Parts: sequence; structure tokens; C-alpha cells
Amino acid sequence: MIVLIKKDCPKDEVNEIIAEIKSYGVETDISYGDGTLLIGVVGDTSVVDRYKIAANPYVENIIKVSEPYKKANRKFHPDDTIVEVNGRKIGGDSIAIIAGPCSIETREQTLETAKGVAKSGANFLRGGAFKPRTSPYAFQGLELDGLELLKIAREETGLPIVTEIMSPRLVEKFIDDVDVIQVGARNMQNFDLLKELSYTQKPILLKRGLAATIDEWLMSAEYLLAGGNNNVILCERGIRSFEGYTRNVLDISAIPVVKRLSHLPILVDPSHASGKAWMVPILAKTAIAAGADGLIIEVHNDPKHALCDGAQSLDLPQFDALMNNLQKYAELEGKKLC
Ligand code: PEP
Ligand code: MN
Repeated sequence: MIVLIKKDCPKDEVNEIIAEIKSYGVETDISYGDGTLLIGVVGDTSVVDRYKIAANPYVENIIKVSEPYKKANRKFHPDDTIVEVNGRKIGGDSIAIIAGPCSIETREQTLETAKGVAKSGANFLRGGAFKPRTSPYAFQGLELDGLELLKIAREETGLPIVTEIMSPRLVEKFIDDVDVIQVGARNMQNFDLLKELSYTQKPILLKRGLAATIDEWLMSAEYLLAGGNNNVILCERGIRSFEGYTRNVLDISAIPVVKRLSHLPILVDPSHASGKAWMVPILAKTAIAAGADGLIIEVHNDPKHALCDGAQSLDLPQFDALMNNLQKYAELEGKKLC
């Protein structure tokens, strides 16, 4: 439910309306759209006496929000959300580029890749320290040692770090050490993890689940927002289908759909979507044309010898060529690489 307040409503009166709404045991979420104040109401709104609230002359209208996601809903928050990370913006008119290896493997691999992507203009460094692998016998990541290598790479390049969390037990450690916490596709509905991450303001990159609908994905974002974390970034990374040529099917239409339904920024991961390095630049450009706010791209200093996802990783010259090319695509969309 959204309560629209008239533009000439005095501040004291606004506070009184908010107090009255809250007296029904629901929560309020304030935002502005076109200069109009919107009071979003979340919780059990069936107990709210909407006729009593509508009787206030400063209440312009009361709108019922039928979608199950409320705080993630564009109706609650008409303007685009821009998430700021160490002075870098994700959302709005900038295109954010997150690049780096699938997994942190060695000091040399991490630093060479990090320096390479920084030189080509990436804004963030990615790299998995804790890896969600299908096989328990596959490389599981360097775990806490990998996190330390990422921190060294941040020191050396100045790039904020983005890395995946798998366990709620590590939330505090990640809050201390990481700039953007990634929730991977396999954990999109790990509600305990989402709840823990909702109590911080640390930016969260929430990937779409392997076979999640857009509504399910937005409901996972709602878990983060419901606990008070407003810094949520979505990431489309391809969904399961019968097609086997590509690793997943990049759901390009999810970008305009999410933009219409939600105010949250959305990035695209062309690497996990395709599983093939040669396809990454094509999908990256397509994502920008479709309105994505940025990209997360796997880059490795030596893809042939990567311990994970080498086939979909660009090498450093390929990433450099792509970055030179993307500028034009960003400009076509009235945006700039940030
Ligand atoms: C990753 O980005 O390293 C990853 C495992 O991606 P996803 O969760 O999208 O499969
Ligand atoms: Mn990977």
C-alpha cells in the first residue's frame, strides 16, 4: 500500500500521518517521486484503516500494491536507486564494469589479472575465494587465503573488491573485508544468508537463481531490503533451458522487465550466461543496449590454465579490446563507463 501525500502538506502533518499509519503495527518507507512524497506501507496492511487515513485532507491517494515485493517495487520508489561503493556509482547514467578471475588461485595470477583489468578501465575487481562447485572434488577456492589475496590486489590497484559469500557464518568477516558482497545464483534463495546480509548497509550483488522467475528474484531482493539494507544490485547471469550450446540462456528481456518493476540497478554477467569467451563481447554490448547498469566479466591472465571457468574467461588483451569498444555503446545509451 502506498499513501501519496499532497505537495503542500506541512512536515508536522506528514509526521502525524506516518505515526498514525505505524500505530497499526506496520512499517513505513518514505520516498519521493516527481516531488511528491510517497509513504510505502509494508507488513500486514489489511489491519490499516485506509478510509480513516484517506480522510486526511493532505492525503492525495492510497494505492494498493498487488505485487508481493514492496520495497523492491518501483511503485514504492519511482526513481532509480544508485548504489555508491567507495565513491563509485552503480546505477543512473554510469556503466559499472566488474572484472577479474572466476577464482582466486595464486598471488601472481590475482595481481597480474587485477593490474591488467585496472589498466583497461575496470571499476571493480571480482574473484571467488569461496567457490560453489557442483562437484565436491573440484577446486573449492582458496577460502580465507583467497580473501587476503583480494585485499592485497585492492591495495595495489585501488579497485574495490567483489566476492561471493556462501555461509551466514562469514557475514561479519565479509562486511569487514569486502566492498561488494556477491550472493551467487545457487544461494539466491538461501533466506538465512539473505536475512543476515539485510542487517548491514554493505552493497550486495544478488545474482538471479539458476531457474528463478523474476518475481522470485525480486522477492529475494525484498529479503535484503526488508531487513534495512538499501544497497542491493541485481545481476542477470542466464537461466536454465533445454538449450545446451550455451551454458545458460541470457535473459535479455529480464533487463527491461526489472527496470519496469523495480528501482534497483541491474548488471549482466555475460561470462556465466554463455560459458564461451568468444560470445562475451557480443552479449556485453547487447546488455548495455538493453539498459543494463553494468557488467561483471570473468578475465584471467592465462585462461588456458585457469582452475575454474577458463573457457568463458577473456584474456587481458581481449578484455582491453572490449573495454575500448564498450565506451561507444555506453554513449549510445546516454551513459558513460564510470
Ligand atoms: C561466479 O560469479 O563466480 C558464479 C559462481 O556465478 P553464478 O552464481 O552466477 O553461477
Ligand atoms: Mn565462474
